[in-house]
Amino acid sequence: MEQKHVGSDMGTQAAGPAFQPKASIPVVVVIDDDAMILRATSKALSSGGMVCHTATNGKSGLQLIRDHQPNLVLLDVVLVGEDGFSICQEIRRTWSQEQLPVVMVTGLDDLASIQAAYQAGASDFLTKPLHWKHLPYRIRHILEANQAANALRDRTRTLQSLFAAHPDPIFSVDTREVVTLVHSGIHGEENDLRPPLGTLDDLLSTELAVQVRECCHKALASPSEVFNLELTHPFQNESRYWEGRFIASAADLVLVMVRDITERKAFEHQIRHMAYHDALTGLWNRHALSSTLDRLCQDIIRSESTPYPKSAAILYLDLDNFKRINDTLGHSLGDDLLKVVASRIAEVLRPTDFLVRTESGDFESVARVGGDEFCLILKSLTSPVDAGRVAQRILDILRTPISLEGHELVVTPSIGIALIPQDGRTPDMLLKNADRAMYAAKESGRNRFQFFDPSMASQLQERFSMEAGMRRGLAHGAFHVHFQPQIDARTHTIMGMEALLRWDDPEMGSIAPTKFIPVAEETGLIIQLGEFVFREALTFNHGLQAEGLPPIRVAVNLSSVQMLDPQLLERIEHCIVLTGADPHLLEVEVTESVLMEGSGQALSTLLRMKELGITLALDDFGTGYSSLSYLHKFPFDILKIDQSFVQAVSEASQGRNLATAIIAMGKSLGMDLVAEGVEHLEQANFLLERGCHKAQGFLYGHPMSPKDFRAFYWERMGEISLAEPKPPEQDVNS
Ligand code: C2E
Ligand code: CA
Ligand code: CA
Repeated sequence: MEQKHVGSDMGTQAAGPAFQPKASIPVVVVIDDDAMILRATSKALSSGGMVCHTATNGKSGLQLIRDHQPNLVLLDVVLVGEDGFSICQEIRRTWSQEQLPVVMVTGLDDLASIQAAYQAGASDFLTKPLHWKHLPYRIRHILEANQAANALRDRTRTLQSLFAAHPDPIFSVDTREVVTLVHSGIHGEENDLRPPLGTLDDLLSTELAVQVRECCHKALASPSEVFNLELTHPFQNESRYWEGRFIASAADLVLVMVRDITERKAFEHQIRHMAYHDALTGLWNRHALSSTLDRLCQDIIRSESTPYPKSAAILYLDLDNFKRINDTLGHSLGDDLLKVVASRIAEVLRPTDFLVRTESGDFESVARVGGDEFCLILKSLTSPVDAGRVAQRILDILRTPISLEGHELVVTPSIGIALIPQDGRTPDMLLKNADRAMYAAKESGRNRFQFFDPSMASQLQERFSMEAGMRRGLAHGAFHVHFQPQIDARTHTIMGMEALLRWDDPEMGSIAPTKFIPVAEETGLIIQLGEFVFREALTFNHGLQAEGLPPIRVAVNLSSVQMLDPQLLERIEHCIVLTGADPHLLEVEVTESVLMEGSGQALSTLLRMKELGITLALDDFGTGYSSLSYLHKFPFDILKIDQSFVQAVSEASQGRNLATAIIAMGKSLGMDLVAEGVEHLEQANFLLERGCHKAQGFLYGHPMSPKDFRAFYWERMGEISLAEPKPPEQDVNS
């Protein structure tokens, strides 16, 4: 027998036995042999908004369950001819507690029945007599409790799966700081009952234990929050990075998920390295430099109000003429050269160096801030003198030629020094002022260092107006060439002359070549100026011979920038053709630095000049770094002994020894010697005694305008031979 009562609109029942949609109308199967009770129950449940199917025996009850897939079964314990327990057991054979709650109805105080009911698989029980008004509420409550229990079970299962799938080991730490491994990571075997591993103090170093303890406390204080800790801890004798994530799982228990992040750290480290370092040299980049400088400035400014104010220095270093090496020998060789230079500079600041060691034990820092520009920070400076010492050491260490792909290269630096805090209190200011000092070092002849001084700001301005002035001067004829005679000291005959450039600016007045030539080199104006000097020198010399004076050689100075000019020979040949001069009467003077900078190319250029018939002189001999064997490779005819050795003659016996040695050295190379800067008779005699009889200097004649030189030459010819020829009337210069 089956009855059905519906309390409200009845929708279709989609619920299967295992799933009980929350919002649907509950379906209840009631099994009782008392028809009156069935009716009353049915009425009570449908008035409570449920669908009710009733059966008077177990068999039809089971059929109803199969047909209607109810949410709950209400089952009487005592039925005619059968007992409710066995019916309950029967139900349980097909449906679990979760799928289908069975509520058994027993007589009051029937404790034995209650026990039996649970054993048979009942979910709950109700006692008779049933209270009809309360019944729907009880049933709904039981249904909801079952639903909640089901939901909880589902969640627990999900969590268990997640836990099992968690790739990292999980530890628990209780309030006594006892650590237990609760999950060994995805590859470890699972075991619910593990012995504790020990306490934090047993397992970790004191320092680590403190950090872990702190995180545990934080996690317990804020239960839903996750706290992170990164630490290093050795594992299998290897130092590794770990990340611990702490979360409270109960009021007295913290779970710690531990992950090995060694690889991630290495990756991070690599990225940070790339962000802060120059790829070519491995040195710091500009970014790293300015952030370090920033911190350093703040530190120094803070220390000003203390009894021990700190100071520091930055060295701004620019390689002289590096761009030209790059252009002539190629970028890849240029890069290799930069690497060597970088490592040499870094070597100067090696950790064992007492000069630059800091109290904190970290060492000074080198950055590459541009193509051929480097910057060094010297922290904790005891005296500015130390900054100068470091700069000097860099100059010394770069003096040794660098051998690369068969070239012997010397790159000299110009170094500007700015002191913190006196020359600047911000990275910008410091870099700017160190850069200015570096420019000043370049202007005063390169390959040197220079401390910043406030007047440099105006010097920089001066440099720019000089450049503009030179361009104007070239266009408006402000440049002239003067000539200084070279004499045979034995006979006082004129053997030759050196062409020396002069610049008279209408505003700035006469400017020394030592001042404007470096600017001309830097700006490239030297190419035009140099060509001008060749033309003037050849024209003038040619004119002298045309007047009937005995032919002499004219020497023209050639800067390293001109040597690297690929069109240099063309320009010289063009001047020769233009002026009709004899190339055998042309001499070219270069300094040793020219040879170093682009050695292979310099050699071939010099050889081609020789082929043209040009005489080659090595200027300022003794001040360069070339070894004698190295000089031997170059086709020089003349060595010009630098003025400094000649001047040393008048100083002390040591100076004389030096001059003697340099003459001997020059002679051993088998080249002609010319002494420069001879001012006194004593010097001239000393040189003559040592076998150096060609000389140039104020003693014999200053550099002169073409007009004066012409007169000087004629006069000298007159002294030597009172006979004709006489100087022509007209001015050569006009
Ligand atoms: P430098 O080639 O060594 O030229 C010799 C310098 O010594 C000249 O200075 C000359 O005036 C000076 N001098 C000559 N005799 C004496 C003396 O007895 N005592 C002293 N104290 N000095 C003496 P100047 O003309 O001022 O030129 C300086 C430098 O400028 C030259 O040194 C050379 O390196 C450069 N220079 C001059 N003209 C040119 C040029 O046309 N082209 C290039 N590239 N450089 C030039
Ligand atoms: Ca010279
Ligand atoms: Ca010279």
